[in-house]
Amino acid sequence: MTQTSARLLIVGPQGSGKGTQGVRIGDAYGVPVVSTGDVFRANITEGTELGRRVQQIVEAGNLVPDELTSEIVRDRLAEDDAARGFLLDGYPRNLGQVSHLDEFLTGRGEELDAVIELDVPRAESIERLSLRAQQQGRTDDTAEVIAKRLDIYENETAPILGVYRERGIVDRIDGVGSLDEITERIFAALEARGLARRAAA
Ligand code: ADP
Repeated sequence: MTQTSARLLIVGPQGSGKGTQGVRIGDAYGVPVVSTGDVFRANITEGTELGRRVQQIVEAGNLVPDELTSEIVRDRLAEDDAARGFLLDGYPRNLGQVSHLDEFLTGRGEELDAVIELDVPRAESIERLSLRAQQQGRTDDTAEVIAKRLDIYENETAPILGVYRERGIVDRIDGVGSLDEITERIFAALEARGLARRAAA
């Protein structure tokens, strides 16, 4: 049986390539990509009130408070284009946010269909992020802030996978290889779950 909705989450350490893969998955499944990091960065760049509230936190590599982050995601998921599904990138990022998301989805009679875990060793992540720092100059890509973000990932974000693993919805994908190879691995895993990609136009 294939199903026509897709409620997906991609999880992986900084530098795992989840942003790039997330966009490809969103495209293939015809669902919006909801990236909390992108939302925060856009608001910081535009100097909105939200941007001013979160700028220091984001630039120091710390997590924005759960209540605020969850409210932003809830509002975004309530929009029409997310009715048939979505791909969450960067949220939930700790156990508190998992509870918030559970509450929201349960209230709508929905649940996550699959959690894609992009597996990349810490040394490889650091190497990729240092390269990105040289190329793009993201203000949270300094060596010290990168180390802090990876520590938060290992201590706070990785544990959420245990919760989802118990539900049997985690697909662990080897995140080392070419971008296309990794996309193919992800598509194969989702297909095995009976999730249907959008027909090619
Ligand atoms: P990365 O995964 O490379 O750290 P993101 O773009 O996912 O980058 O996030 C950038 C920053 O935005 C984080 O370091 C954090 O400050 C903030 N952020 C993003 N998502 C969340 C979240 N779910 N909860 C709290 N803070 C978040």
